[in-house]
Amino acid sequence: QTPSKPPPLPSPLRFSKFFQSNMRILVTGGAGFIGSHLVDKLMENEKNEVIVVDNYFTGSKDNLRKWIGHPRFELIRHDVTEPLLVEVDQIYHLACPASPIFYKHNPVKTIKTNVIGTLNMLGLAKRVGARILLTSTSEVYGDPLIHPQPETYWGNVNPIGVRSCYDEGKRVAETLMFDYHRQHGIEIRIARIFNTYGPRMNIDDGRVVSNFIAQALRGEPLTVQKPGTQTRSFCFVSDMVDGLIRLMEGENTGPINIGNPGEFTMLELAETVKELINQKVEIKMVENTPDDPRQRKPDITKAKELLGWEPKVKLRDGLPLMEEDFRLRLGVPKEN
Ligand code: NAD
Ligand code: UDP
Ligand code: UDP
Repeated sequence: QTPSKPPPLPSPLRFSKFFQSNMRILVTGGAGFIGSHLVDKLMENEKNEVIVVDNYFTGSKDNLRKWIGHPRFELIRHDVTEPLLVEVDQIYHLACPASPIFYKHNPVKTIKTNVIGTLNMLGLAKRVGARILLTSTSEVYGDPLIHPQPETYWGNVNPIGVRSCYDEGKRVAETLMFDYHRQHGIEIRIARIFNTYGPRMNIDDGRVVSNFIAQALRGEPLTVQKPGTQTRSFCFVSDMVDGLIRLMEGENTGPINIGNPGEFTMLELAETVKELINQKVEIKMVENTPDDPRQRKPDITKAKELLGWEPKVKLRDGLPLMEEDFRLRLGVPKEN
């Protein structure tokens, strides 16, 4: 007599879907700047179980210190370019170095992370039926010829430049997301994130807000890269996290721009940091790097209409919150 096949065990995933309202959420890159703030917010909800996967290339366990050992939290050292087997309901896929000096440090690894990493997370989403959100970037618009940038703009990107591993990597990641959606019915969400700042940014990661604040606190000149008239629009991290969660929970695939439309030249930013943090520092013009976008500002009409989202924190209110965190980490107490 041939033994009959045992009935399949109820999967913990299905159990969580049908018998409880608990959510098991994977955050790749959760030890990084935006990821760790997202984890803080997700952990506030007692129905969420959060699994972070990170290879600690640009992130740190320190950012998640308060959750280590918590029964609803799990931290796994893992590189997303390798396959991953976990059972989850949602995936926030953030893993990718975001600062130009880090992504240019090993461009081949950056493109592997964007392409193979996103492919693996989509394969995982397909196997377990999870919804997946990709944190894409305003860099998909390249050096934009349309201003401000709506989601319908296809961009102006150099395919063979030093930034391409990141820009084109994210463009392929977006393509993969839509192909898995169309071909396999995966539930996808794409956020196009514009420059974000706030506490826990890497102090020496070379991005402009972290550079200027660290320089102001160390009493060093603020290095404005030429010509200084190039613009960026800076979103405070709590607004960003709110936008990402709304996108995940909503019914729209995106892509949707998430960013703060307040636009500043790099010289204006330097003046503001100088005025708020250290009026004694000088502003020094330095050489720029190739392919630096000349202007950038999100059109957030879609985020407003579809997600009911818009940023609340103005640059002048967000910078002091970041200053406080940088003072603690650099050991520079406030005078007076
Ligand atoms: P971050 O560098 O602080 O975080 C990225 C995290 O991903 C780090 O913890 C890093 O260790 C991890 N990581 C990198 N490669 C990995 C790999 N192969 N496997 C596993 N983990 C890996 O950057 P961030 O500013 O928090 O950015 C998070 C996401 O948001 C990124 O996808 C980035 O492209 C996107 N984004 C950020 C900004 C911004 O202004 N901060 C703008 C646009 C898009
Ligand atoms: N994958 C993964 N975890 C899973 C399922 C798949 O990391 O739970 C990876 C898998 O190794 C593959 C990729 O996701 O490289 C794409 O998977 P898919 O099933 O779509 O394609 P295939 O395995 O048929 O190439
Ligand atoms: N930048 C600058 N001084 C610095 C670092 C950057 O003037 O010390 C400029 C840079 O040329 C760019 C802008 O700030 O125009 C934003 O650069 P960042 O690396 O922060 O982000 P991204 O280029 O990815 O928007």
